[in-house]
This record gives sequence, structure tokens and C-alpha cells, in this order.
Amino acid sequence: MCRLVTDYLDKTVNEYPDKTAFIDFKRVITFQELKDEASAIASAIIDRNVFRKPILLFMDKRVSTVSSFIGIAYSGNFYTPVDIKMPDDRIGKILNILDPAIVITDKEHEEQARTIFAGRDIMVFEDEVSRPVLNDRITDVRSRLTDADTLYVFFTSGSTGIPKGVIISHRAAVDYTDWISDCYGFDEKTVFANQAQLYFDASIQDIYAPLRNGSTTLLIPNRLFASPVRAWKEIIRHKANTLFWVPSVLCLFANFDVLSHVEKAPLKTVLFCGEVMPVKQLNYWIENYPDVIYANLYGPTECTDACTYYTIDRKFKDNEALPIGKPCANTEVYVITEEGALADRPGVTGELYISGKCLSDGYYNDPEKTAKAFLPNPFSSNEAELMYKTGDLVFYNEAGELIYVCRKDYQVKIHGYRVELGEIEAAALSVKGVDYCCCLFDQDNEKTILVYTGEIGEDELNDILKTKLQDYMIPSAYKHRETMLFNNSEKIDRIALRNEYL
Ligand code: AMP
Repeated sequence: MCRLVTDYLDKTVNEYPDKTAFIDFKRVITFQELKDEASAIASAIIDRNVFRKPILLFMDKRVSTVSSFIGIAYSGNFYTPVDIKMPDDRIGKILNILDPAIVITDKEHEEQARTIFAGRDIMVFEDEVSRPVLNDRITDVRSRLTDADTLYVFFTSGSTGIPKGVIISHRAAVDYTDWISDCYGFDEKTVFANQAQLYFDASIQDIYAPLRNGSTTLLIPNRLFASPVRAWKEIIRHKANTLFWVPSVLCLFANFDVLSHVEKAPLKTVLFCGEVMPVKQLNYWIENYPDVIYANLYGPTECTDACTYYTIDRKFKDNEALPIGKPCANTEVYVITEEGALADRPGVTGELYISGKCLSDGYYNDPEKTAKAFLPNPFSSNEAELMYKTGDLVFYNEAGELIYVCRKDYQVKIHGYRVELGEIEAAALSVKGVDYCCCLFDQDNEKTILVYTGEIGEDELNDILKTKLQDYMIPSAYKHRETMLFNNSEKIDRIALRNEYL
């Protein structure tokens, strides 16, 4: 029985040593090579006497990044990948929370890393990957670990402007990988075309299903999705047959009618997760690939990846909502109304709470935010059991399937990226010359509008925000006002501002 993700690799490497595990633009790695590289990285870390500590990864989406993830896991530590384009200001906030014991980078990003992480222990992948492997010490580390040990911490947007580090254990990652592999029949013939960045939960099966099942993952650089035809050529070239993509990217292919202009791919399974999948665009995919299995998966980073699922088993009209279905194995969901009652009748809307093995162990170094989001589960016979408060409103339809309605708060999805409008507002308020601000979201066009008062000009504010926020968080438009609008409670009047600007 595999308890740690490294146990998966230890098993698979015996079955498929020479089979391709991961492919990027520069190289291909077999399971044996992956194990060797990961073991060398683990040895370098173990040699530094670092155990059960966070390790930050400053690398692009590459095979070597995957080797580093696994190497960190073999060493008994846990990883946090950050975007190499993340502004220093945001990296600084993550460093404050995480305080990593080591930063791993590669030759390409070494110079940049030495500036950003000055004073920290920096390991360069290429310098360590061919060092002798300390097999005995790796075995010793394995004997001390349990599946409750942390595998990774992923940072998501935080409404107060401070990112939140979601802690995920081996247990949660293994449970999810087992479920999705069994549910969708992933095996050694499965070839994933990875779309998500490796610091997002949507990439988890692309990394761990190959380790478990001997599948292959093609790591597609994210810039290629800017021209979908190029991304598709890679899918054809490597005979990828399985997609787990965010709806925004699937929609891109539909909106530009890409599929009828490109060669047919040997697709078997198309899964989507992370935001609402519009039926019109899904129907476009179904028209082009009628024999493929499609499924709508739902889940927040705090529940590892997907925690409910609906495999498309009937036709939907363009204006119908796709169900998010039912809970995955080992997962329980509760729909709780504003009055605190369980909404188990069809049509009654409530907030979705989740419990089960998939649950995160909370936010790293932030007990206060953890206590607000992870609550005692009053429906469990186990008093220690927690449930996660998702902030998503849902209801059951007549068929007992969950239907997603909307968020309760100011968390939005911009082209698949999770963003708290509060984080954009906090960044803007930290800029000299901004007095008040309010970030509005135009759902139809997936655009953010920052309404603000103060003496700073729009262009200058935009330039400063580029140094504080990730590119997808930069407001799409600015509206300067002489005075802010307030409501009767003296709060910024979002409703009036929405009426004026949206
Ligand atoms: P993330 O943590 O980035 O995975 O974002 C989680 C949030 O994305 C959820 O709380 C939902 O608001 C939204 N979400 C995820 N999957 C779906 C889905 N299938 N349909 C609608 N919204 C979704």
C-alpha cells in the first residue's frame, strides 16, 4: 500500500524503469532517471541536515522541477513552488510566512535567485543532480515519515493582501491521486497534457498519477497557450490523450474554433476544474470529440484538488448549468443554509462545507485564518474531525446533484486564476497617493476595475502595482474619482460603484 507519493515511484520504477515519465521542451525523463535525479536532490538536502522544513522552488515548469518536488519529498521536507515572474514584493510576503530552509533553483534562474533570496541557502539543481546518492539515509528518512507529513504548501490569494499557504499532506495527495486514477481509469497508457502551472492544485494529478500508474505527462509551457494551435501541435506530437484543464483554456479553443482546423488528437478523457465551465463551449468540444469522457470537477486548493465530480452523462442546453455532482471517495459535503440548517432538499441554497481525507492541514503559520476556515464538524461522530468552509453557494437539483451558484465573498476567478479582490485593494492602498479604493469585477468580461481616490495618476499606479501583484491580478482598468462613495454604514458603497462603472 502506498502511503507517501514517493512510495508510488518506488513501486512504478520497478515496473516501468525505461518508460517516459515526464516530457518538457528540452528533455524527456524515464521513471528510473526520475528516481535517480530525485534521490540525488534528496541526498543533497539530507546532507544539509534539513528535515520536515519548507523548501522553496524557484524554477520554471520543467522536468527538473518535478525531480526536485520528488527529491524534496524523499528528503522528508516539503516544497513550495513560486512563479519565477512573481513580483519581489509578493515573494517577500511568502518568505515572511514560510521562512524556507533552502531555496532550490536552476542555472537559468540562479542569478535572479541570488538577488531575491540573498542570505538564504540556495541550491542549484544542476550542481546537485549528479552527486552520489545516500541510499541508507533516504531509507532512514522514509522510516521516520508518516502520511500525515506535509508534501507541499501552495500559496493562494489572501483577502487582506497576505497570501495564504495551504498545507497539503502526503495522505491527502495520495488519497486524491488514488481516487482520480481509479475513477477515470488512468494507467500506463495515459498521457496527460499538463496545462496548469506547477504551483496550482490543478497540476496534482499531472504529477502524481504518472508516479502511481506509470502514465506520462507532457509539461506544456504556459506561453504556448497564448497560441492554442501551437499547444495542440505538442499534444499531437506526443499523442496526449488526457486533459485536466481550467475551463478558460478549454473555452479559448472553442472561441477560436481551433479544433476544426487542427489534426485530431487521440483524446480519451477531458476533465475540467477550477471555475464554471460554460455549456456552450463544452458542447463545442463534444461536437468535435463525441466519444471522449468529459467531467466537471470542483474543489478548492484547501481540499487538495477536486472534491466533487460530475461525469457528463447527458446533453445540456447552452443556458443550463453543469452539475458539480457528488463527493469524491472519502469526502463528505454539507450544504448549510444561512440559518445553520442542512439544506438537503432540492433547490435550497446554502454554503458548501467539505470534510474528508482531502482536507488541508490549514494555512501555514496562520492559526487565525486556519481557525476561521476549518471548523469542527458537528455532523461527524469523531469530535476531532474538521470541515472546510468553502465560501461557495450551491444547491441540490432534483437528481441529487450539486449545482454551483456563486461565491459568497469577493473571491473571483480571472482566466482560471483565483484572486481575492481584497488583495488587489490592499496592494493599491499601500501605494503612496491612493486614499481610498475599491476593486470591482466585471464577470462577463473577466475584468477588474480599480476605482480609487488620491493624487496618483492611473499610469503611475499601474506601473507600481506591476511590482506588487502577479500579472493576472493587475487591474484591467482604473477609474479615478475626486471623492469616494460611502453607504449609510460609512463603508465604501460597492453597490453604487458597481451601478456606476459596470
Ligand atoms: P482554487 O483554490 O484555485 O482551486 O479555487 C477554488 C474555487 O474555484 C472554488 O471555491 C470555487 O469557487 C471555484 N471552482 C472550482 N471548481 C469549480 C467548478 N467546477 N465550477 C465552479 N466553480 C469552481
